[in-house]
Amino acid sequence: MKRESLKETSRIVVKFGTGILTNRSKQIDPGQIEQLVAQVAAQRQAGREVVVVSSGAVGGGMGALGMTQRPADLSDLQACAAVGQLKLMAAYSELFAEHDLQVAQVLLTHDDLEHRERHLNARNTLVSLLDKGVVPIVNENDAVSYTELKFGDNDWLAALVACLLPADLLILLTTVDGLMENFGKKNPRTIPVVETIDAGIQKLAGGTLSASAVGGMDAKLRAAKMTARTGIPMVIASGKKKRVLANIIDGRDEGTFFTPRPGRLKGHKRRIAFFHHPKGSLWVDDGARDALRDKGKSLLPPGVAKCNGDFAKGDVVRICDINGTEFSRGISRFDAAEIRARELKGIEIVHRNDLVIL
Ligand code: GLU
Repeated sequence: MKRESLKETSRIVVKFGTGILTNRSKQIDPGQIEQLVAQVAAQRQAGREVVVVSSGAVGGGMGALGMTQRPADLSDLQACAAVGQLKLMAAYSELFAEHDLQVAQVLLTHDDLEHRERHLNARNTLVSLLDKGVVPIVNENDAVSYTELKFGDNDWLAALVACLLPADLLILLTTVDGLMENFGKKNPRTIPVVETIDAGIQKLAGGTLSASAVGGMDAKLRAAKMTARTGIPMVIASGKKKRVLANIIDGRDEGTFFTPRPGRLKGHKRRIAFFHHPKGSLWVDDGARDALRDKGKSLLPPGVAKCNGDFAKGDVVRICDINGTEFSRGISRFDAAEIRARELKGIEIVHRNDLVIL
């Protein structure tokens, strides 16, 4: 896919990172939000639907509560998020109103997207808001979600929202220009296009060094892998630039463009691949790995070398090679205990229709 074709996009998810929404003293930065809002409003006026995924609740709440370091305690983090989220929404509501646009707050927990009914419900809500010309502002419901049940970071949340809708473009706006080569060294360079996220690309990413945010480039690459697999183009670019959205959508060289992979994953398989927190894993031998990966077969009992975790029939499990590297996910037709008892014969443990190669 060429950048040129981004001109045709009609539904975009844009994520704003904490670093571009807050200033040095960890206060929400109204000037910065104003310029981002103006860019989104311009896209709405051009007839495009835009969903904003906004971080900055914890970061903004820290400043409001006089903290300079991200608190370690979960309840303190949740308190920051509850305070900061309100400040964020107040700013968005006021600034979008200047462009005659209404905003809506949509706070999600991982559970909301994992279960089929709730997943469809969340999508219907977002689509209905877009139909009404509203700009949905999505964040994780940080005030109540806790560690094991979290999305983890908003790059992942934004990618899930893009897949859920689905959107035809995901843009992650951050404090750097894109994926960089020689970051922090001599001759830094933004990588303009990434077609495959291989080990070389992965090496360019690191976590975050920020005191208020989570995620970083690693998290963005994880999101890029998901969007590529689901057929959605993605761009990482700087949210500090005043024409960044227009430049990306006009197909100009801005930030790093991740092209989608052919063979877009749809509905059921997409949910299996990305919307679950697997409760266990099945390690398979080389023969089973090849049969699943290269021949599109189901997973049969003799191929399972090891069964980890405590999952129930119907749960999504990771499927890993003999070294524990995950290459697939699928719905197990049996409980972990039944698989470990090794009494299953001739029947699929994971049927090919419920199995996705990642
Ligand atoms: N949901 C968090 C917040 O609003 C941010 C998570 C992230 O930036 O990845 O503060």
